[in-house]
Amino acid sequence: MNNLASHPKHKFVHEVSSQRWKRETLVKETRIEKALKTDKSTWKKCKHCGELFPKTNDFWVKNGKKSNGDQRYRTFCGDTPANNCCDLFGRKTPQRNRTRTNADKMKTWRGHLTARKAGSWASDNILIERKIKAGRQLTEFEKIIRSDVLAEVHPLTIEVLLDMLEKQNYRCAETGMKFTLEFPHLNNLSIDRKPGYEYHTPEGVQLVTQWYNKAVGASTREQRDILNEDIKNMGSRQSERVGPDCKSGGIVPE
Ligand SMILES: [Zn+2]
Repeated sequence: MNNLASHPKHKFVHEVSSQRWKRETLVKETRIEKALKTDKSTWKKCKHCGELFPKTNDFWVKNGKKSNGDQRYRTFCGDTPANNCCDLFGRKTPQRNRTRTNADKMKTWRGHLTARKAGSWASDNILIERKIKAGRQLTEFEKIIRSDVLAEVHPLTIEVLLDMLEKQNYRCAETGMKFTLEFPHLNNLSIDRKPGYEYHTPEGVQLVTQWYNKAVGASTREQRDILNEDIKNMGSRQSERVGPDCKSGGIVPE
């Protein structure tokens, strides 16, 4: 502990995330309570403990989809501390016991995207709370994001991001530079809100290098275009100076 008062901005961010956690816990508890009041004949029986539980994601572990689109569940109940046969008997190596360091996670593209996604969701949450604090009326999108469990309703999913990365050919959407898995690195990928978009929606974001994202901040499309042009020219000037043989000189992507 130190004697410094917490920064007002950090204090707000901390409050907002702890309030979010409390609201989400309440949403889940209410949902479980409601499910426990439904007709038991629709419940699913666990192959291990023989207990019946409502057929929802809160009580069962998902296991693909049926041909008609319905959710399929594992034969063991699971996923809540109250009924966790799946954790106890369903898996040979419980994932929960696996220790992965942050460095391990950052060895994969999925790991990089997952880390950045968390930041995007958190900043969307903060923006909504700032609007509420300012007495602004919320849009339908904002209401949904605020009143439900973020991980279950936010449209920017890991699948969307993995698809985006592949479509961008593992390169920055603005400079064309290649992303790197080496971490930490200036050329790590980051999720960039396109000019004119308020939230991190699939249409509203693109992947850019971290240094680019930090550099442009909230600048406009026009300002970005000028910067992009300057970067391009800097690269060609550089290669003129060092000659065509020196491949490492320019900033322009290969
Ligand atoms: Zn069970």
